[in-house]
Amino acid sequence: MKIHEYQGKELLAKYGVPVPQGRVATTPDEVETIAREIGKPVVVKAQVHTGGRGKAGGIKVGKTPEEAREVATQILGMDLKGFTVEKVLVEEAADIKEEYYLGITTDRAARRNIVMVSKEGGIEIEVVAEENPDAIAKLHLDPAIGLQDYQMRQLGFDAKLPKEALRGMGPFLKALYNLYLDYDCSLAEINPLVLTGDGKLIAADAKVVLDDNALFRHPDLAQYQEEQEDDEIEAEAHKRGLTYVRLDGDIGIIGNGAGLVMTTLDVVQREGGRPANFLDIGGGAKAETVTTAIDTVLLDPAVKGIFFNIFGGITRGDEVAKGMLEAIATMDIKVPIVVRLTGTRAAEGLALLEGSSLVGAATMQEGAQKIVELVNAG
Ligand code: GDP
Ligand code: MN
Repeated sequence: MKIHEYQGKELLAKYGVPVPQGRVATTPDEVETIAREIGKPVVVKAQVHTGGRGKAGGIKVGKTPEEAREVATQILGMDLKGFTVEKVLVEEAADIKEEYYLGITTDRAARRNIVMVSKEGGIEIEVVAEENPDAIAKLHLDPAIGLQDYQMRQLGFDAKLPKEALRGMGPFLKALYNLYLDYDCSLAEINPLVLTGDGKLIAADAKVVLDDNALFRHPDLAQYQEEQEDDEIEAEAHKRGLTYVRLDGDIGIIGNGAGLVMTTLDVVQREGGRPANFLDIGGGAKAETVTTAIDTVLLDPAVKGIFFNIFGGITRGDEVAKGMLEAIATMDIKVPIVVRLTGTRAAEGLALLEGSSLVGAATMQEGAQKIVELVNAG
């Protein structure tokens, strides 16, 4: 479960870390009131589950309460990478001199937690990792030893943090580490950790992802769970009873069986395509399910084509074919659809599809190649 920045900061504050003074608001009126209370320039920050909010226009400074209100009207209700902004965090604006990165996550390959520190804060760590990998100091943690003071010093030193940040950074990293362990996180980041003009350190952002399987151990976070807004399309898909995960590509994927769908994602990726989602319609899918599945995949405006990969076992090929024909007859589908149908009643199914606008494929590989070609051709 992802939690919002303001919630992450609430957790950090519990661990004694300085976070800017502020509160959450849902209307420009409230924003103005909070700004007046703070009595200093404020920063108004969109609370949505995506990074890069600054660049996308979701973070703005208001020097006066009136200006805070003005920027709040711009941010509240805006679409930020597919999320509608319903809440903003209003807090004292930081006087930023430098921005650093602190993060902890699980390195599955190493089977350890990994701590990362970088002088290149304020931009996504994935970007730093790609463009300037040497700028990230890393350390795998031995679970029996944890995170020791000397290790933190070493990390700060390796990351070439300036003197004024070296010592002060320790408590932030320690808090992040304790929070990470206590709350069964899979990611905990402070990005940026800000060095202010007067030489203070402050956690200007907090990103925390909790392991869903461990949520039952944290009844104190039930409130966060309630406030959590899923991806809108995922929420809708789950309402419709579909197993759907949104991804960031442009090829819609529909299949029956989690393993088959996972494989389809890999094969499409290998052919140079970028899957837009995972959607498993399960066994014994009837025509209606197929229509719903197509409709759901097309909720994502990024989708430029759909690859249907059906292995007929319990699911009958002719049922699926009927569903597809129904879908294309009743819906205004503007993207190409490639269908790979095999197994039970595949021949009957493919026969039904003949003469329609659907593109048949004999194998998964061929289907993946065809959809990638069609999507690339526009
Ligand atoms: P993210 O882009 O979604 O990770 O949001 P962040 O909270 O990390 O903010 C992005 C950027 O906005 C930061 O790196 C800063 O450059 C800027 N920013 C955030 N808070 C403040 C602030 O209080 N004052 C000023 N001047 N800039 C800020
Ligand atoms: Mn950030």
